[in-house]
Amino acid sequence: MKKKGYFGDFGGRYSPEVLIPALEELEAAYKKLRKSKKFRKELSRLLRNYAGRPSPLTYAPRLTQSWGGAQIYLKREDLNHTGSHKINNALGQALVARAMQKKRLIAETGAGQHGVATATVAARFGFSCTVYMGKEDVRRQALNVFRMRLLGAEVIPVESGTGTLKDATNEAMRDWARTVGDTHYVIGSVIGPHPFPAMVRDFQVIIGHESRKQIKKASGLLPAAVVACVGGGSNAIGIFHGFLKDKKVDLYGVEAGGRGDEPGENAATITFGEIGYFHGARSLFIQKEGGQIRDVHSISAGLDYPGIGPEHAYLASSGRVRYIRARDQEALESFVELARLEGILPALESAHALAAARTLARQYSSARSLIVCLSGRGDKDVAEVERLLGDTV
Ligand SMILES: *Cc1c(COP(=O)(O)O)cnc(C)c1O
Repeated sequence: MKKKGYFGDFGGRYSPEVLIPALEELEAAYKKLRKSKKFRKELSRLLRNYAGRPSPLTYAPRLTQSWGGAQIYLKREDLNHTGSHKINNALGQALVARAMQKKRLIAETGAGQHGVATATVAARFGFSCTVYMGKEDVRRQALNVFRMRLLGAEVIPVESGTGTLKDATNEAMRDWARTVGDTHYVIGSVIGPHPFPAMVRDFQVIIGHESRKQIKKASGLLPAAVVACVGGGSNAIGIFHGFLKDKKVDLYGVEAGGRGDEPGENAATITFGEIGYFHGARSLFIQKEGGQIRDVHSISAGLDYPGIGPEHAYLASSGRVRYIRARDQEALESFVELARLEGILPALESAHALAAARTLARQYSSARSLIVCLSGRGDKDVAEVERLLGDTV
């Protein structure tokens, strides 16, 4: 029997008792809303007229020529309002929060894109908004911090741990435990306790549904492969769901290979993680002996997380999706390559998907296509890339 809130052996709801009533309230509210025509209509209108969907599927002729192999298409989530796929989920959860009559939204953020998306919908719907962000990410993503403040959100730098996404998530959960009465916690990826992984997935599958239609229209066929970067896993789960049932479409999730394979040098959870319980779910986590969560590293703040959404842990165990790695240096090279060959600055997260796709493309014939999910734009990363590459570009 399928256990509620589980994907195979992964998922569930392992939360402090104070949060259980809020999770149950959220589950009931969302269950009702997802069947409501009015809700679905309002959300699709916002996605179209506010977020700018559908996002284009762009053919990349110079990248195709340079890589040799499959025809390369880019799913342009970078062109959404606020610059990434995060707005799809933030809009959905804002409508759910409004239906629950919450007054305040909180969020965790790594690269700042989810914080910006949440601050944006808070402004649009009149919620007050607090965003937790690790102090290291506040430094790496200064532009997004000021964007959030401009949008009226309070940004709280988190000093604990490594000052990255894990620590920001801890603080957001602590806030929620104190404020559940009037506050909704907008989790930004397919992580956390049930119903978050399923609900966030539902708000992101639009990426896959659009891509499937668009590639069939552009090439007459399904793609040979789909490639997406994986932090918590929301852009990847969104695009994969358009093709999961098409057994002949190869699906690749790309994890942060960081500086190398040693513990602490990467954030490749599927490769190096073990089963554990953290941030409300049973999933894979990078841990030390004894189960303590280990500090991880990625050049990209949005992939710098020691866990993975439970549905990805399941898709890895079933073998339907293959999970591979791209290192910091490769992502940097792909960042510059996309700029030079196609005139597009990708987010450093998305540059991991490009770096892996570069190698994969050669495994397929030029009669076939390969889609890379361009989860966000790189404007937020320009200062950090300048610091790292300086005069070498
Ligand atoms: C947040 C973010 C990611 C990583 O999150 P997922 O939930 O794995 O998608 C990837 N790309 C961009 C641009 C992001 O903002």
